[in-house]
Amino acid sequence: MIPLSTKDTFIFHCHPEISCFNECCRDLNQFLYPYDILRLTGHLKLHSSQFLKQYTSCHTGPSTGLPMMTLRPLAGIERICPFVSDEGCTVYPNRPASCRIYPLARAISRNRQTGRIQERFALLKEPHCRGRTGKKAWTAGQWMKNQQLDEYNRMNDQMISLISLKNQHAERSLSRKTARMFYLACYDLDRFREQILYHGLADDMEPSPDTRARITEDDLFLLEFGMNWIKQALRAELAAQPTRRDR
Ligand code: SF4
Ligand code: SF4
Repeated sequence: MIPLSTKDTFIFHCHPEISCFNECCRDLNQFLYPYDILRLTGHLKLHSSQFLKQYTSCHTGPSTGLPMMTLRPLAGIERICPFVSDEGCTVYPNRPASCRIYPLARAISRNRQTGRIQERFALLKEPHCRGRTGKKAWTAGQWMKNQQLDEYNRMNDQMISLISLKNQHAERSLSRKTARMFYLACYDLDRFREQILYHGLADDMEPSPDTRARITEDDLFLLEFGMNWIKQALRAELAAQPTRRDR
């Protein structure tokens, strides 16, 4: 990995005629953010539960205890992405953030004084990828724009902030109920919607009639609502638990 400042440029050109075409869609080890799942589920027109069952594996974050999702490769040693075809990516308009951002990696930190998010980028150099032999030069900012990553980054940063909230209380474990609600609110959005509309949330966190109307028809609004809601639920549960030191 080579660190990139905001002014540094890198050469990259990926296209269907390149000899390594589709090479990066095998040997899959791909983390999926909630917004990736929302976009893929919408693309495939699947209920979120069906998508999760068919295409993902759920893992428990080793330090956070939070449920984390990966894209499940097809069976076989090549670990091929279920969405790749000879012509390329079959979900291209809604491919995950990690596919869009390649060959860059992005890390963020929050400025403690201003609360603003600061981004850092690095360039990945992997032997199988020949896209660096092109002529087109990009800055990290130009690449983000070209790959339409703004909305992905905005939503993924909210997930990172949830993970970091739990990491600040790594010694405290989550109840099964909160872990289940985290899974629903972040990943299984259609079931989360059903939970809100037909069964209700905790009494002090019930949405207003206007919010319920938007939850019914707007998946992105539902995801943002869910992530904010789970942040409050996490804060409340973590604050109420004694740490190991207190016991
Ligand atoms: S989602 Fe598309 S671009 Fe990403 S690994 Fe799968 S086929 Fe490749
Ligand atoms: S150039 Fe790199 S990103 Fe493009 S198909 Fe080849 S391996 Fe994948």
